[in-house]
Amino acid sequence: MSEKKRLVIIGSGPAGYTAAIYTARAQMAPAVYTGVESGGQLMYTTELENFPGFPEGVMGPKFMWSLRQQAARFGAEVKDQLITAVDFSQRPFQLWTSLPKGVSPDEYKRSEPNRMAEITATIKHQPAEILAEAVVVSTGASGVMLGLENEQSFLGKGLSVCAVCDAAFFRQKRVFVVGGGDSAMEDALALAKFTDQVTILHRRDSFRASKIMQDRVLNHPQIKVRWKTTVTEIIGTDKIERIGLETIETDGKIIKQELPADGLFMAIGHKPVSGVFAGQLELDAHGYIVTSQSYSELGLTRASQALKAGLVQFPTMTSIEGVFAAGDVVDLRYKQAITAAGMGCQAALDAERWLETN
Ligand code: NAP
Repeated sequence: MSEKKRLVIIGSGPAGYTAAIYTARAQMAPAVYTGVESGGQLMYTTELENFPGFPEGVMGPKFMWSLRQQAARFGAEVKDQLITAVDFSQRPFQLWTSLPKGVSPDEYKRSEPNRMAEITATIKHQPAEILAEAVVVSTGASGVMLGLENEQSFLGKGLSVCAVCDAAFFRQKRVFVVGGGDSAMEDALALAKFTDQVTILHRRDSFRASKIMQDRVLNHPQIKVRWKTTVTEIIGTDKIERIGLETIETDGKIIKQELPADGLFMAIGHKPVSGVFAGQLELDAHGYIVTSQSYSELGLTRASQALKAGLVQFPTMTSIEGVFAAGDVVDLRYKQAITAAGMGCQAALDAERWLETN
């Protein structure tokens, strides 16, 4: 038997929980499907210092737990389940949470697009588990890898995408962080609490991270930076032992080097988690879901189509009427907790108004 829901929210970062708080307060009885782990990327952050209202800062996991409790307090149903397939071609929208025998949620999440489509097609042979009148997608983004041939095999064996989670395993070890954004700064600072051998490897000669984070890193006595350096190879048997690097010198000469390494932390950006919506919702070339407020040409096209029909009444609506999207899965530009929460609020208000008029 399918469960009938008025509004389903997929994803449990700041966008998802904010949408849940608003729609629960509006008595819409939203159901939030949190994904494998509730709370999204902020669960892997130490201190959230720039969310307004917390003069002393707040720990990422504590903040996310508070949002979950706030949503539940107003009556949101929070389900610790992963949405594994959707069919938005008809209303009510159909959703599934099951996986074929032998496929774990982690394997499913990490699968290549073709494999994911294959798994999804199998799931859809079963009747849908959830029927929803409206949906808010807020599945966020996940860390990018370098794409080196053998890197997947070193995950958990010295290679990590989460310094905050794994830093304690690298006490007094030689660790390297790849990237030049806020995540790389945050990772290097987290690691420097455990070891004085932290080096940031950045492909350019300046960081894109915020000034305050750059200053903390550049003034930190335990953090070194190697500019214009890329990782070309990971070497080791059971775990990382060395890494191959290429550095462009000031005269343009390329220096190749191998260095002993215990840990390599990837902080080279994030990609939207939108695989399950491929073929269902319009996505841009990078996989971001397109809405009328996407900061891209596709977003402008969608907005101008909506304007021709009168007003952009539902800026967070996707290519499917009744399906809204918010947060990092849409946002190729700002990617902040506060912007995701703001967009979650917009999607909630759009969904509410849309449901009232439909
Ligand atoms: P990001 O700002 O996109 O930075 C990614 C970094 O990785 C860039 O320095 C980029 O180099 C480098 N990079 C990308 N692909 C690479 C490759 N193939 N090889 C080597 N280097 C590569 O990503 P982020 O640091 O994850 O931050 C994402 C968003 O979250 C940002 O808006 C950030 O402000 C926010 N954030 C905020 C905080 C905070 O406020 N405390 C903490 C974490 C994240 P280039 O610079 O050369 O492009």
